[in-house]
Amino acid sequence: MADCVFCKIARGEIGTLIYEDETVAAFNDASPQAPVHVLIVPKVHVANITELEDKNLAAHIFTEVVPEIAKKTGVDVTGFRLVVNTGEEGGQTVNHLHVHLLGGRKMTWPPG
Ligand code: 5GP
Ligand code: ZN
Repeated sequence: MADCVFCKIARGEIGTLIYEDETVAAFNDASPQAPVHVLIVPKVHVANITELEDKNLAAHIFTEVVPEIAKKTGVDVTGFRLVVNTGEEGGQTVNHLHVHLLGGRKMTWPPG
């Protein structure tokens, strides 16, 4: 999508990617909420998790990309949190599906 900031980042037009493969890109959050705060996005524009129809892509993100980035950032041993904010009450502010990977500090519950 032409005017989507995460599409632009995923295409490498702006920002810096910390991970990239054929279908997925990842980059550090501009406003990190933890020492490790990475955003993992499909390269194809998908508005949110309810719009994700590609099961292979979903599996790839959660079974391959997440573990690899957790290892790369060193939180695979200490633990981390995945967050997928969805819609207005879910707190989604960028309408391109993204998985937050947060770690490097003790997380609290419930979330705000
Ligand atoms: P959401 O609130 O939609 O779940 O998360 C959007 C996230 O994207 C926020 O944590 C915000 O800091 C981050 N963000 C918004 N715009 C940009 C940007 O242009 N670059 C990067 N790296 N992060 C962004
Ligand atoms: Zn997009």
